[in-house]
Amino acid sequence: MKAIMKKVSGPGLVMEQVKKPTQEDLGPRDVLVKIRRASICGTDVHIYKWDEWSQSRIIPPLITGHEMAGEVVAVGSAVTQVKVGDLVAAETHIPCEHCYQCKTGRMHICKNLKILGVDTNGIFAEYAIIPETVLWRFSPEIPLDYASVMEPFGNAIYTASVTNLLGKTVLITGAGPIGLMAIQVAKVAGASTVIVSEVDPLRIKMAYENGADVVINPAEKDLVREVYKLLDDGVDVLLEMSGNRRAFEDGLKCVTMGGEVSVLGIFGGKIEINFDALITMRGLAVYGITGRRMFETWRIADELLRTKKVDLSKVVTHILPFDQWEKGFELMLNKQCGKVVLNLD
Ligand code: NAD
Ligand code: ZN
Repeated sequence: MKAIMKKVSGPGLVMEQVKKPTQEDLGPRDVLVKIRRASICGTDVHIYKWDEWSQSRIIPPLITGHEMAGEVVAVGSAVTQVKVGDLVAAETHIPCEHCYQCKTGRMHICKNLKILGVDTNGIFAEYAIIPETVLWRFSPEIPLDYASVMEPFGNAIYTASVTNLLGKTVLITGAGPIGLMAIQVAKVAGASTVIVSEVDPLRIKMAYENGADVVINPAEKDLVREVYKLLDDGVDVLLEMSGNRRAFEDGLKCVTMGGEVSVLGIFGGKIEINFDALITMRGLAVYGITGRRMFETWRIADELLRTKKVDLSKVVTHILPFDQWEKGFELMLNKQCGKVVLNLD
């Protein structure tokens, strides 16, 4: 079968012919999935670039990729949760199921967490072996192209749902694919006003298409001043989705005293902020967001897509044949896209 791999240490990925896994390769709780759609995540781009993080984490040879929609074609001897023919997406956080966090309803922050396509072979291939624990049987009404992005959609949902957004004013810093999805989620959750900060022209346009009330480009205008011009009290809630240090610091300044902050963005190292002045003395509540709640977030994602409360056609900008994966990575590297989905049918 064809698979996209990090074959050796260094930048780039290659598409290679590898042995197709079969029933014999399945552990008792493993599932063989025929991949029908796969989408490219920022993490795959990090692995492609071979940045510092990838060098410390990835052990080649490795099949990369973790966002997917597929069909169950074989199951291990002890599998009970899915059957052949089921359509499935995958949670990428593979939990151990026995640590303190797993045992207390917090599998998404398992102490022994493995990440699909990072610590184990991933789904950029015609077939993949995936443990049944992380499979989500999505509603058949959901188009495969959108089911493929349920995992990052779940990031948007989890970040936006740790606080009650009903009637609240919200600032989203960063309108990458996840920020774009969060705009729609915030609106569905009842936010009265969604302000977005974004520096990239294409993504500014996309933020409006996804329902932002106002988009501010902090490279052109002072974000804090602009937000207080619009709202005397600043915003009730900040959703940080840029991973940019300056965006976070300015975002915090935009939050009203006693407001709430969810941080999804990864800054990639230490950041310096005046914690006393910006957080403690202003009584802010700050939530760090990792992954998705398993599986409360997935249920919400499924319902919002099944009932078309969220329209991902404004986020999935490219659907390419699997063989054109290099074009997909190029689009991602140049940020000339929302989500890029690869079609393996
Ligand atoms: P992305 O990199 O595509 O999006 C980030 C966006 O922020 C880009 O559109 C960029 O132009 C914009 N940006 C950059 N500087 C900015 C600034 N100063 N002000 C406003 N916007 C700015 O990433 P994504 O895939 O949408 O993910 C969003 C963030 O969430 C990333 O930092 C990613 O690493 C992180 N992430 C975290 C988790 C988790 O579990 N915590 C999971 C997935 C992604
Ligand atoms: Zn665990």
